[in-house]
Amino acid sequence: MKKILTGLQPSGNLTLGNYIGAIRQMVRLQEEYESIIFVADLHAITVAQNPSELRKNIRSLIAIYLASGIDPKKNTIFIQSENIYHANMSWLLECLTPYGELGRMTQFKDKSSKHQNFGAGLLTYPVLMASDILLYDADYVPTGIDQKQHVELARNIAERVNKKYGEIFKIPEPLIPETGAKICDLVNPTKKMSKSDENPKGVIYLLDSDDVIRKKIMGATTDSETVIKYDIENKPGISNLINIYNSLTGISIKEIEEKYKDSNYGTFKKDVADLVIETLKPIKEKYQELINSKEIDKILDEGALKTSEIAKKKYLLLKDKMGLGR
Ligand code: ATP
Ligand code: MG
Repeated sequence: MKKILTGLQPSGNLTLGNYIGAIRQMVRLQEEYESIIFVADLHAITVAQNPSELRKNIRSLIAIYLASGIDPKKNTIFIQSENIYHANMSWLLECLTPYGELGRMTQFKDKSSKHQNFGAGLLTYPVLMASDILLYDADYVPTGIDQKQHVELARNIAERVNKKYGEIFKIPEPLIPETGAKICDLVNPTKKMSKSDENPKGVIYLLDSDDVIRKKIMGATTDSETVIKYDIENKPGISNLINIYNSLTGISIKEIEEKYKDSNYGTFKKDVADLVIETLKPIKEKYQELINSKEIDKILDEGALKTSEIAKKKYLLLKDKMGLGR
């Protein structure tokens, strides 16, 4: 079985966009691949985090994934900082990565221009990501287009190390899922829905109450027409709602337009709200059962132990080849 590796940053409350764009893919992929999933808390601290919020987000992320159908029997799940070899390996690889290569990364250029006092970790982040991937000989890294460049960097690092020290790493490949819909903000539907957004009105959080979800969807920005028609350019608000409907039901956009051809926006919005509420209901219920359970701790303890053993071997192999220690 081919191996995949996925890391998720605990940088806020997960959204409907994260569910449609990422979580559901992972639930599907677990049937086909041996899969390692970790909470990338070391990555999250590349920008400032409130410690108690961060700790809460880490656990919450795990509970949401399990509640959404990630099966701990099919996946190895752990917290990045609970496996010391990620940071250790990262240091070795940082010393083997040209400075200039990191400065050219799009995400670094983007984030460093937005934040004022950022740490050096923002620059070296892609090397930590390379370590995450290379420690486990992952075949594929499921990722959005935004992270593709970092997977390329991991490949370059692996090739360079293999050339210099012998076959140490497997060369990973990005696995870009067939374009799942990009879910947009409800208030500002030309913008992507994001968990780090400052205005919560346009963002559906997976743990929002039914009432809040309904209010947000009923209040979604639409245009001044009355036709339910897919047209991203001129009708981004309605198109976004159609995308949500399509993603959650599998009913094609054409069929949705046909079904609602005589309806007004209010009726359609009400149906979208019902659909989202129904979809999230079982996830929220399961989340409440899990969040304070010992089961989560057991899964994480096992994950940390199992992955540390694998990662340690890889780390020691490179450390030895580089001549470190005795
Ligand atoms: P942030 O604001 O912190 O960047 P985010 O909501 O954009 O948060 P990420 O952690 O960047 O979430 O991405 C997690 C996963 O969710 C990625 O696979 C990404 O492609 C997917 N994703 C994020 N937002 C959306 C969205 N609006 N629609 C579809 N997929 C999304
Ligand atoms: Mg993002």
